[in-house]
Amino acid sequence: MTKALAAVLEAPKNFQFREFNIPEVAEDDAVLRVEACGLCGTDYDQWLGHLKDWGGGMPIIPGHEVMGFIERIGPKASKLWNVKEGDRVAIEPIIPCGHCEDCVRGAYTRCHADLGYGLYQNTKVAPSLWGGYATHTYLHPRTMVHKLPSSIPTDLMTLVNPLSNAIRWVYEIGKVGMGSTVVIEGPGQRGLLAVATAKKAGAANIIVTGTGADTGRLALAANLGATATINVDEENPVQRVIKLTDGQLADVVLDVSSGTMAPVLQAIDMVKRGGRVVLAGLKGQNKLNGLPIDKLVLSEIELVGVLSAGWQSTEMAINMIREEGAALQALCSHSFALAQVTDAVRTLGREIVDGHDAVHVTLTPS
Ligand SMILES: [Zn+2]
Ligand SMILES: [Zn+2]
Repeated sequence: MTKALAAVLEAPKNFQFREFNIPEVAEDDAVLRVEACGLCGTDYDQWLGHLKDWGGGMPIIPGHEVMGFIERIGPKASKLWNVKEGDRVAIEPIIPCGHCEDCVRGAYTRCHADLGYGLYQNTKVAPSLWGGYATHTYLHPRTMVHKLPSSIPTDLMTLVNPLSNAIRWVYEIGKVGMGSTVVIEGPGQRGLLAVATAKKAGAANIIVTGTGADTGRLALAANLGATATINVDEENPVQRVIKLTDGQLADVVLDVSSGTMAPVLQAIDMVKRGGRVVLAGLKGQNKLNGLPIDKLVLSEIELVGVLSAGWQSTEMAINMIREEGAALQALCSHSFALAQVTDAVRTLGREIVDGHDAVHVTLTPS
């Protein structure tokens, strides 16, 4: 095949299928044959047009949770990345520049260049194939490439990106460890993977909040190791956390809910002095009124925003899927062919409800 097929987001809620030339590889880059691409809340926000002031704009090929097989690779890239043609790999969403202040400090996921997959360069930037909603993706010379085991089913393996996020947010940034009490607000894909991560890290209490629409997801959370679940439509989550912890409150609260602000304010009331509130849910560009600054100051509460994962958390995610992936299979709820891309995004956004709760949604080219 000399052409790649891609779903291009031309305007909000408007996908068009287009063909692109598959680029020749140079000595330091490669082309990936996409096996699958995972979707997350960011994909839904992007489709709605909420990211128009951020990232590469439109027309763009979305898909930042990309995995597949190395189709062609230049000799220098092969040596540097330690992969060869035919190898199964996952790529990190961000392409670090290697030279900005954050890159040289090792915090390359905050790279100032804003280069990456699915969200950054639009199709006008050569060679156009910058996203996973396609049969092929171009691999830039500075792509962060992780070799994957060959034996793990496709849908389970695509959890590597969201699981790497959960590991960074809960374990690396949240510092959840043995005996910790953690509250996870929002039982979506990332919230549920955060439960599995907190359990693996040794948390003693894992409390998960959700709404009345989340009954199935809260049950999944309990199966993955949550010690308590709270339906916020029926009870006050702050009061319940006070009760569950004998007034000790949480060491860490992770907000992975999207759109709504109440969980942020509740998180500040659920966390103990010196505790940490980790914010990972996008709020549709809304601003928050009523932030109790004095309480944050007086109780030395840390409020931290997180976006992405990194090399170490990605490798940890690959190991966790290899060793205990079976427990995570229940999260893989939907898989769509590329031709059904709009259904995939709408299912993720709960616009299409088929009786089977959408948790982890994947797109495959064939
Ligand atoms: Zn994502
Ligand atoms: Zn950089």
